[in-house]
Amino acid sequence: TNHLFDGLTREGLKEPGRIFATLADGRSLTYRDLDEETARLANVLVSLGVEPGDRVAVQAEKSIGALFLYLATVRAGGVFLPLNTGYTPSEIEYFLNDAEPRVFVASPKAADGLRPIAEAAGARLETLGSGGGDAGTIMRTAEAADASFEPVARGEDDLAAILYTSGTTGRSKGAMLSHGNLLSNAEVLREEWAFTQGDVLLHVLPIFHTHGLFVATNTVLAAGASLIFLEKFDLDAVFARLGQATAMMGVPTFYTRMLADERLTPESAGHMRLFTSGSAPLLAETHRAFEARTGQRILERYGMTETNMNTSNPYEGERRAGTVGFPLKGTELRITGESGESLPDGEIGSIEVRGPNVFAGYWRMPEKTASEFREDGFFVTGDLGVVDADGYVSIVGRDKDLVISGGYNVYPKEVELAIDEQPGVVESAVIGVPHPDFGEGVVGVVVASKPLDEAAIVAPLKERLAKYKQPKRIVFVDELPRNTMGKVQKNVLRQTYGDLFR
Ligand code: ATP
Ligand code: MG
Repeated sequence: TNHLFDGLTREGLKEPGRIFATLADGRSLTYRDLDEETARLANVLVSLGVEPGDRVAVQAEKSIGALFLYLATVRAGGVFLPLNTGYTPSEIEYFLNDAEPRVFVASPKAADGLRPIAEAAGARLETLGSGGGDAGTIMRTAEAADASFEPVARGEDDLAAILYTSGTTGRSKGAMLSHGNLLSNAEVLREEWAFTQGDVLLHVLPIFHTHGLFVATNTVLAAGASLIFLEKFDLDAVFARLGQATAMMGVPTFYTRMLADERLTPESAGHMRLFTSGSAPLLAETHRAFEARTGQRILERYGMTETNMNTSNPYEGERRAGTVGFPLKGTELRITGESGESLPDGEIGSIEVRGPNVFAGYWRMPEKTASEFREDGFFVTGDLGVVDADGYVSIVGRDKDLVISGGYNVYPKEVELAIDEQPGVVESAVIGVPHPDFGEGVVGVVVASKPLDEAAIVAPLKERLAKYKQPKRIVFVDELPRNTMGKVQKNVLRQTYGDLFR
């Protein structure tokens, strides 16, 4: 048996005629199609020399073919390695040399430029297109391949994927995810979020990241449910399809963009069973505004490439704005202090997690892996958080974004929340930059909807925040720098404003 492939397709293949995915052009694919397409692609991969444990790297536009390539790789015993479509050739060069894939699948238009890089890394280059254009070499070969394939035997501990982290805090690291990591999380999410065969998930996330690839797709598969599979988040397409969906998963920017559109109403969104948010913090204000407009309380959850999902607000029960809810079934979570000791509820510290969802380590980084795991198997996430008396977890920032000013810890989130309350402030990011007297000085980077001045923002903070937490400077920007998953790039801000106090 193949632990992940068999586990993910068991429900759907009970009734293979059921719809698995509806595409932008209206075409529908059944679970039987999924079975046959992934069999064909698995046959192609084996013919290209893919053996159990070999990596199959893919940088291709989002398409149902790319999704099938993920499942086919797993089915063939390989290790799927998706790459952000925004990576440049020199970034791809780094990843291919690091991962040494057997096969590298690129989009047809990028293939010529990437060929020398693939060759130098010892990978066989194939192509995969999207939409109406060139389908790519791998699809053309697959058309003639056999539509049956006995899944290659793989157990719980065998690798299914290497996923590079988003690179928000530094160079991306390859997280090694096992069959057991992925399947256990899919099953827990199906259960906790009550996914059933009748669900239709509006899929508008990218599939090179854990959120769209694993959280969204695997949960739907585990339930034998179906997808409306669109190539990207586009407001017209979202509002055109929302009526046929029961659930949608998004990053916070999806929800703020929907809120800015008058088509978001109780009529267009009220029928939905579930909206979830993650990958970056959802402002409590967005949560409230979305509920006021649609009657829907967005369910916020917390996860990362290395761990899959760790916590979630409850499906039944109170979804608390500004929190990421409770640890998922089977996942243990603790908050620790500077020397690794467990802290009581209400105290801020490092978030550590342990469970079947937690990855096997960083690819070819044994020292980094060792330093991020405690002896008892807990993984140090790099996020700072606190658990309240009712057990709800809140994230207050990343340890790398912690500001230490005059020897005191400043948690950016606390200052950001205070800034965001000022009239005219849309959002803010608080960073620490080198300061001659304090080590680091607190700086608030602010997006405002009307002209504001520094003093007007800082004055009310004086009553709310201890002196060392008060921003020494406020700078105004049109928008915060964000990566494709909607994460604010604080390292970019620290660079931009690094000389503010020099
Ligand atoms: P890198 O590790 O390379 O710096 P990254 O941590 O952004 O990049 P991901 O694995 O994509 O890469 O993101 C995981 C991180 O996203 C978490 O560690 C956490 O900081 C953040 N995150 C995820 N969900 C939430 C959430 N609901 N609220 C706040 N932060 C979240
Ligand atoms: Mg990270």
